[in-house]
Amino acid sequence: MEIKEINAKTILRKHNKIDSWFVSRYGMNLYRGCAHDCIYCDGRAEKYQVQDNFEAEIVVKTNAVEVLKKELNPTKKRIPLKPGFIMVGGGVGDSYQPIEEKYLLTRKILELLSENNYPVHILTKSTLVERDLDILKKINTKTRAIISFSFSSCNDEISKLFEPGVPSPSKRLETIKKLKDEGFYCGMFLMPVIPFITDKPDIMDETIKKAKDAGVDFIVFSGMTLKEGRQKDYFYKVLKKYYPEFLVEYAHIYRGDKWGSAIEPYYESIHKTFSVIAKKYKIPVRMPSFIFKDYIDKNDLVVVLLEQIDYLLKLEGKQSSYGFAAYSISKLGQPIAGIKNSLKQLKGVGPITEKIILEILETGTSKYYENLLK
Ligand code: SF4
Repeated sequence: MEIKEINAKTILRKHNKIDSWFVSRYGMNLYRGCAHDCIYCDGRAEKYQVQDNFEAEIVVKTNAVEVLKKELNPTKKRIPLKPGFIMVGGGVGDSYQPIEEKYLLTRKILELLSENNYPVHILTKSTLVERDLDILKKINTKTRAIISFSFSSCNDEISKLFEPGVPSPSKRLETIKKLKDEGFYCGMFLMPVIPFITDKPDIMDETIKKAKDAGVDFIVFSGMTLKEGRQKDYFYKVLKKYYPEFLVEYAHIYRGDKWGSAIEPYYESIHKTFSVIAKKYKIPVRMPSFIFKDYIDKNDLVVVLLEQIDYLLKLEGKQSSYGFAAYSISKLGQPIAGIKNSLKQLKGVGPITEKIILEILETGTSKYYENLLK
């Protein structure tokens, strides 16, 4: 493996609006490239301007701690950072990939976030996160540390083919059990499921049952994208070798969409399958609000819950305009609590949405939302 050390200009990546899947305001990539080498990883797509050899050439932002220290310093900011969760992981490299054992960047970043009282959400595929339990516990006593793991299934044999550099799903589940025993909220990001391989009802059932048994608090689900170029070429090499019988089906669902999306009927069908199984095991399909509501600002709380309602209704095949309302609120330049009497002037907000927003502002949640999430 080739390691390239660089000095980064910035570390925190601010989202335009709160990300309601991860409930985060900011993200960061401490490494670029990922030795975990998931065959489907879209981080290697040209769009992200990463190096060609994504899995074998890892870029390390060696000055990450110093840069973040400045970024967190309120005296240096004209616009203060938004309160809310900082996402550590995901993007174009797992923060707990093997090289982290040498550089300890994630550990040092967590120490800094802990000193500055920021809540964090970690997303990883590695069991190395256990190493940092001491700091994560500190964060969890002051604010909140949510620890999530991504999976494409809980099948160890399939994982060996598509996630060759990652601890097996069984090991990840063991880590989740330990973290649950330590009092952490843990999520499963079941993304992506691999078409015709891990999206089958029996495989998904096994995955969700094992997640439930391990104690995960929620599962967020998504299908796979396959962008033309590096990502698709890399994936196809493995598909041709182990599952050549599915090449025709892949050509049918991936038709060169610029985002790498599959055709809509395919996504609809796997979401339906997922929804039925998640209901069977009574597992929330979005992060429940009690996990995060005390650590984000009110505008963001309303946005996240309305977007969750929108998702949950669409999952049931229903129409929804809650996403529009969420978007309008995400653009507000003032606290929503200050315009309680004129909410209906916002685009997408009718009398029912208004009632839900007022309930969220008063109680931190909404009965309608809670019922949908059950
Ligand atoms: S762990 Fe994440 S970033 Fe790393 S290769 Fe796998 S999917 Fe990509």
